[in-house]
Amino acid sequence: MSSFCPAHPLAGLADKVRDRIPVPVVDPTAAAVRQAETLVTLKPRKATAGTFSSPGSEADDRIGEGTGRGDRAQAVFRRERRVALMPFDTIIRGGTIATAADTFACDIAIRDGRIVALGHDLGAAETIIDATDRLVLPGGIDSHVHFAQPSGDGIVMADGFATGTRSAAFGGNTTVLPFCLQQKGQTLREALRNYHAQADGECHVDVAFHLIVTDPTDQVLGQELPALVQDGYTSLKVFMTYEGMALSDRELLETMAVARETGAVLMVHAENFDAIRFLTDRLERAGNTAPRFHATSRPIPVEREATHRAISLSELVDVPIMIVHVSNRGAMEEIRRAQQRGLNVMGETCRNTWF
Ligand SMILES: [Zn+2]
Repeated sequence: MSSFCPAHPLAGLADKVRDRIPVPVVDPTAAAVRQAETLVTLKPRKATAGTFSSPGSEADDRIGEGTGRGDRAQAVFRRERRVALMPFDTIIRGGTIATAADTFACDIAIRDGRIVALGHDLGAAETIIDATDRLVLPGGIDSHVHFAQPSGDGIVMADGFATGTRSAAFGGNTTVLPFCLQQKGQTLREALRNYHAQADGECHVDVAFHLIVTDPTDQVLGQELPALVQDGYTSLKVFMTYEGMALSDRELLETMAVARETGAVLMVHAENFDAIRFLTDRLERAGNTAPRFHATSRPIPVEREATHRAISLSELVDVPIMIVHVSNRGAMEEIRRAQQRGLNVMGETCRNTWF
């Protein structure tokens, strides 16, 4: 996945922290702590007034101890050199760090965009952020958001990149992964160009795209997708329902095969399109068009069957899949059974699919 949006300045602590802490990709807290544990060979030293604690020599710490003019000049020289060789870019001081495992009082030192030390009295830095009485948390990653995506005739999702990423920042998320929707007849490159153009300069947090494949032509599957995976767009989503988006079983299989060959992660929206159309037609004929009939048109078997089918197809191709927005027990049990059989099937849910 490619991260492309430059940081957009938000006022305050959270933004400063985000700018300087890399967004960990896997198990952020543990990774950051491990990284700090392995990288920190600096022994924390007591920093007293007039001294700078750093990896320099012991003698260098005794700034201001000289009494003669020469000593003083030397001390000033050393101090200036020390400032020039500031060991850290940023120290977040006095906060309470909350990790996945623990909560503890600790300072954080950052150099070149990475956490390099956790400890107390870490010394000097170009920027000191006072986090007294505050919690310091790893930035969250929301791997499933939709921004500025067309959703039916003339309808576009309410959040664009500016409002969506602003909302993410205020919720503590420093990376989001929205979807880039390929329209029928469009190449994936075109779709990506459009989304990048909309996102460019608008984002307040890091953004990377998943690709939604709705038109898996030979060209898309044979050339575009493998090239885009090479470029870093390593996750795809396919739909088993929705007009203009649903893939046939054959198309699902072909796309799964590309995911297998390229190592891309494949997400599947699993609902039975024909079953939904069958039920929807009958509901409409009976005049049942109020919003609540949306649920009636998608009873549990619609999702359970498609989930089972998606898993079976992925088993044929022998490729891992992720079933997205799982909304009922039946579908969840299909995933669990597949996992118990040793298949690499994952599932995720989100609150808006429960209602
Ligand atoms: Zn979604």
